[in-house]
Amino acid sequence: MATDVQFAVSRIASINPATGEVLGELDSAGPAEVRAAVARARAAQPDWVAWGVRNRISVVRRFQQLILRRKTDVARRITQESGKPQVEALITEVLVVLDAARFLIEHGFALLRDEPLAHGNLAVKTKLGHILREPYGVIGIISPWNYPFSTPATEVLAALVAGNAVVLKPSELAPLIALELQRLMREAGVPNEVFQVLPGDGATGAALMQSDIDKIVFTGSVGTGRRIAHMAAERLLPVVLELGGKDPMLVLDDADVDSASSGAIWGAFVNAGQTCLSIERCYVHRSVQSDFIDACVTKTRKLRVGNGLDPATEIGPMIHERQVRIVEAHVEDARQRGAQVLEGGARLRELGPTYFAPTILAGVDHSMRIMREETFGPVLPIMAFDDDAEAVRLANDSEYGLGASVWTGNHARGQRLARQIQAGTVMVNDAISCFSISEAPHGGMKASGLGRMHGRWGLEEMVRLKYVDVDLVPKMKKVWWFGYGREFSLEAESFLDVLFARPLRHRMRAAMRASGALWRRKL
Ligand code: NAD
Repeated sequence: MATDVQFAVSRIASINPATGEVLGELDSAGPAEVRAAVARARAAQPDWVAWGVRNRISVVRRFQQLILRRKTDVARRITQESGKPQVEALITEVLVVLDAARFLIEHGFALLRDEPLAHGNLAVKTKLGHILREPYGVIGIISPWNYPFSTPATEVLAALVAGNAVVLKPSELAPLIALELQRLMREAGVPNEVFQVLPGDGATGAALMQSDIDKIVFTGSVGTGRRIAHMAAERLLPVVLELGGKDPMLVLDDADVDSASSGAIWGAFVNAGQTCLSIERCYVHRSVQSDFIDACVTKTRKLRVGNGLDPATEIGPMIHERQVRIVEAHVEDARQRGAQVLEGGARLRELGPTYFAPTILAGVDHSMRIMREETFGPVLPIMAFDDDAEAVRLANDSEYGLGASVWTGNHARGQRLARQIQAGTVMVNDAISCFSISEAPHGGMKASGLGRMHGRWGLEEMVRLKYVDVDLVPKMKKVWWFGYGREFSLEAESFLDVLFARPLRHRMRAAMRASGALWRRKL
């Protein structure tokens, strides 16, 4: 109760970052509302389980078709709230959600089915084992603003198909698109209490952490992720953490410079650089460095920055002026430590306070913030290396480990380097698009997080494994039950030889000695 008294209802405003227009204002959900929503979810969840996987998948199919019909409208709403170009909203958000639904429609039933578990141990051959995948109950999801539709929707879909009820706390910077997601889910047939969206800021997120949820799936910054991990540890709450990144791009001496430079600027500037899998550090072999930099600069000069609703726009505004200040500080730190700004490097004030010019930096090194901290803005810092070993060492010299990419004309070489890079995903000759491969797991190592979303591994995060074991000979007392004695000890030793001794004739001899255990008197 004390928490409720202290909680002052705060209001959050959804603002179009391109224009500053207030799109909507909402009250943050307080602790009492959060608790009530979780209680409603808990009460509704058993019925949702009783629907069965096939019926839940039918709802996903309806949801998919609804989004497909409303794709333009959904993309426009994403653009209004997040600033990204509408075509990006279509490709990196709507398409990703449609395909995540396709994956669940095609594979959800098989992946959630009970699974027989064969036993290899001779001693337990009379038993039949099964793995059951049971929903946790109520899953709390806390999501960020940068992919305000695809990040929560892919997680929510997997949680729902697995039979959980979900309470989602979206980012305070993009609550409207989450409410739209709630409307679409309900229209598709998800019962109201089974999926609820609670708008609010960090305090609402903290209240969700303290509520009676069974698991938390958090996507956001490392700082908040650490706080979530602390809160989860207090009550041993299972947790998935999808956190920030500082993804390296390695351009090898045999890479196609034209393709790699186009990939570099897209990977660094898509969504104005506000992507967890953005290319944030670029390492180029010294022999191709100059051609690569020239190509990046030339192509960057052609990029059109503006309002994402204009179809010509390639780079929209950043989400908030706060985020722009971080980018400015990183670029300024690099400049002071000797980096050269080859393109951009400053705000585009004529467009508004949230626009930052796509920026190319050269002459950077690992003493600079731009190469160590997540910048989360449209900046491509480029550094040279001399051989593959150095490239891998530089790539791994980071507290993060979300994604990485290797660019080369030689697939085998790319795959060899991929094995040496510390990251959850390594792409060869592309970046970021792994997020849209619904079969592929998404997640990081080191400070980039714990657990995996998407694909079969994302679905596995939404269920508890239960092992059920049935002994098929109920009248048989088990060999290992009481009635011990010296003779049984010798038989037990022989039995271990039966199982594991080499060569075969030793096992045969041991079998004779062990067989008495079968007939001995048990209590
Ligand atoms: P953030 O950590 O500021 O906020 C994320 C969410 O946590 C928001 O909903 C916020 O309201 C909530 N929150 C804040 N304080 C909280 C608290 N004390 N308790 C509970 N909830 C709290 O992150 P952001 O700025 O919204 O998102 C950008 C970050 O997210 C970047 O670091 C980016 O790399 C990361 N990200 C990671 C992935 C991934 O899949 N790994 C995907 C998208 C974004």
